[in-house]
Amino acid sequence: MADELRLTIDGQAVTVPAGTTILDAARAAGIDIPVLCYFEHTTSNGLCRLCVVETEGARGLQAACVSVPRDESTIHTRSESVERARRTILEMLASSVDLSEAPDLGRLLEAYRARPERFAGGEERRPALLDDNPMYIRDYAKCVLCWRCVQVCAEDAQYTYAINFTGRGFHTSIGTFYDKPMPQTTCVFCGQCVGVCPTGALKGKREFLLEQGVAPEAIFEVTREPRRGRRRGAGDEDAAS
Ligand code: SF4
Repeated sequence: MADELRLTIDGQAVTVPAGTTILDAARAAGIDIPVLCYFEHTTSNGLCRLCVVETEGARGLQAACVSVPRDESTIHTRSESVERARRTILEMLASSVDLSEAPDLGRLLEAYRARPERFAGGEERRPALLDDNPMYIRDYAKCVLCWRCVQVCAEDAQYTYAINFTGRGFHTSIGTFYDKPMPQTTCVFCGQCVGVCPTGALKGKREFLLEQGVAPEAIFEVTREPRRGRRRGAGDEDAAS
């Protein structure tokens, strides 16, 4: 196998190490491909299909984040079928999910001249907001099923496995086993899922309450669990004096 891939991306000659994905090869050439589920620090799964590209001679479109091209491939990242596919994905997302806190997607909707109204009248995903712990809320009406939170909760970071996909088809969502409240799961409240969520579906409780107009003193009360049965230590005397 050759050590290098010699590619042509959007008419530009690019040479990258063997095994490089189309996304990374395009980035090396300064070509921007939009992403949604892809994240530098989690395993790529090609779920959202927003990064699709067209490779001459290949069937269908390829998810750039997971596809490794053959040597001497000619790839188009802005062909008509690529643009149409991305536009349709964006339209379907915007017509069914609340993207009000996903500014990157808002910019892409504009850039691709997406018309979510084409799917008006279809079903919208609007599950009730879940507020079951002192640390963060889950508003899955804003969830685009990118899977980043599931991955950091599992092998990509925390090995906690508190959340996973649940349901099927349009009604697929992220949930806990048997829909248990988060404090009854294996969640250790590390906050990594909140950190990687691109749409505001997961949000720190303090941020959420501040947005609701709750006073900081009141927030302090609801986000602190009183310590029970804590033994006194040397530092306590210092603090008391
Ligand atoms: S909750 Fe956020 S991070 Fe998790 S799948 Fe939904 S959008 Fe992605």
